[in-house]
Amino acid sequence: MTAVAPDTTHHTALHQRVRDFISADRPMLIGGEWVSSASGRTFETIDPATARPITSVAHGDATDIDRAVRAARQAFDDGPWTRMKPNERERLLWRVGDILTERAEEFGQLEALDNGKAATIAAAVDTQWSADIFRYNAGLATKITGSTVDVSMPFVPGGEFHAYTLREPVGVCGLIVPWNFPLLMASFKLAPALAAGNTVILKPAEQTPLTALLLGEVFHEAGFPPGVVNIVTGYGEAGAALAAHDDVDKIAFTGSTEVGKKIVDAAKGNLKKVSLELGGKSPNIVFADADFEKAVAGSVAAWMFNHGQCCVAGTRLFVERPIFDDFTAAVAEAASQAKIGPGLDPSTELGPLVSQEQFDRVSGYLSAGLADGARALTGGKRWGDEGFFIEPTVFVDVEPSFSIVQEEIFGPVVAAMPFDADTGVAAAANDSIYGLAAGIWTTDLSKAHRTARQIKAGSVWVNQYNGFDTAMPFGGYKQSGWGRELGSSAIELYTQTKAVNISL
Ligand code: NAD
Repeated sequence: MTAVAPDTTHHTALHQRVRDFISADRPMLIGGEWVSSASGRTFETIDPATARPITSVAHGDATDIDRAVRAARQAFDDGPWTRMKPNERERLLWRVGDILTERAEEFGQLEALDNGKAATIAAAVDTQWSADIFRYNAGLATKITGSTVDVSMPFVPGGEFHAYTLREPVGVCGLIVPWNFPLLMASFKLAPALAAGNTVILKPAEQTPLTALLLGEVFHEAGFPPGVVNIVTGYGEAGAALAAHDDVDKIAFTGSTEVGKKIVDAAKGNLKKVSLELGGKSPNIVFADADFEKAVAGSVAAWMFNHGQCCVAGTRLFVERPIFDDFTAAVAEAASQAKIGPGLDPSTELGPLVSQEQFDRVSGYLSAGLADGARALTGGKRWGDEGFFIEPTVFVDVEPSFSIVQEEIFGPVVAAMPFDADTGVAAAANDSIYGLAAGIWTTDLSKAHRTARQIKAGSVWVNQYNGFDTAMPFGGYKQSGWGRELGSSAIELYTQTKAVNISL
C-alpha cells in the first residue's frame, strides 16, 4: 500500500500519536494481525473540513470478511476466550474503558479529523461516554444469569426433575456501524457483545474508519486474545458480505432504515439474529407554559448537535401557537450565532457535514423545502467555499407532506410547525414512519406524563433533549429499529437461552 501525503495545514495542534497514526496507510485487524486487504486495495478517508485526504485504509471486501469470520469462529470455538471466567472478561473490558479515558484527547482529535465534529466534544462525549459504556458492561459480564425452574411435567407423574436455564453467548457477531458517532456506535455494540463472551467482526463506516482502527490497538493493549475482535474496513459491499455470511450468528446494525431492510433480507440465509438501530425524524414539542429560555437552548441543541447528524435529532419542532412566532424567532437567532468551523478549532460549535455525498443530500433538501414553499428564518444555504459546511436552517410555513417534514435529512435543518391546545399534538407528532425519540417542554407535570405516554417513540425526554444514559435502554419504535441497546438489557441482544431439564 502507498501512503497518501496528508494535508497538514490545519493539523498543527495534533497530538503526536495522531500524527503518527495518520502518517501511514492503516491496515485492518484480523485474527490478531494487522493485515492488508486480500486484494491489496486501499481507499482514502477524507477530512470533511477541507475535502482533502487524511490517509488511506485497507479496502476490505467479501474475501476479507470471510477471513475475519474464520478468525472469529476459531477464537470462539477453540480459543482461550470462551474458557475465560466472567471476571477475566470484566477486567479486560474495564481496561479498555480506562485506556479510552487516558487517551481521550487523541481519540477526540482523530474523530474530529475524520468526521468533522469538534475535537473537544469527540473527546468529552464520544470517547468518555464510550469508556463509560465499556466499564458499565465490564460490570455486567459477571451478572449474566439463568434461573432454576420448578417444572410440573404433568405427563411424567411421580417424576423428579432439576430444570434450569443458561444464558449463553450467541457466537460470532457482525457489528456494522455508521459515521455520525463512529467510536460511540461501535462501543454501544462491542461492549455488551464482548461482556457476554461473543467474538466479533466490526465493520466501521467507509467515511470514518480511523477511530475503529485505533480502538483495535486498545483491545490489543488491554490483552484481548487474537481473533476476539476483528476490524474490517470497507464499503457497503463488506457490510453486505458480513450480513449474508452463513457462519455469522448475529448482526447488530446501526445505520439507515433503507440499509436496515437490506440487512434483514441478507440475514435470511442462515436466519441469523438481527438487531437494528435505524433512522428517525423525531418530534420536539414545546408547550406555551414551558420555561422559554431553557426550551430555546434545548430545542436548538436538539437539531443542531453533531451538525444535525443524529439519528435522534429533534427535527420536527412543534410549538404551541401562542408562542410560535417568538419561539421560532429565538431559535433562529440562537442558531445563527453558532460558530461554524473545522472540528480541530476549539471554538467551533458547528462543524462540516461528513462527506460530499451528505453535503449534496442536505443541499437537495434545502432546495426542496424552499421549492415547496417553506420559509427559512435563518440559513438555507452552504457556508463558506471550502469543505462540507451548511448554515443552520430553521424552516417555517411548512406542510406535513413536505419532504423536509417527512424524511430524515441528517443535517442542521429543522422544520417548525404550530399546534393548538384543543386539538393536541400527539397525532401530528406520531405522523412519521419513525419512532426513535421525542422531546417535551412544559412546566405542567400532568401534561408531561400524558404526552410522554401518547408519543410512539423509544425514548422520551422531558425538559431536556438527548437525555441519554448508559443505564437507560435505547432503541426505536416503528421503522426506527428492532431491539434495545444500552442498559443491562443490551446483554439480551448478544445471548441466547438454553433450557436444561434433568430427570433425577
Ligand atoms: P448507512 O445505512 O448508509 O450505512 C451504515 C453502515 O452500513 C456503514 O458501515 C455502511 O458501509 C454499511 N452498509 C451500507 N450498505 C450496506 C449493505 N447493503 N449491507 C450491509 N451494510 C451496509 O448509514 P449512514 O449514512 O452511515 O448513517 C446514517 C444513518 O444511520 C441515519 O439514517 C441515522 O439515523 C442512522 N443512525 C441510527 C442510529 C440509532 O441508534 N438508531 C444511530 C446513528 C445513526
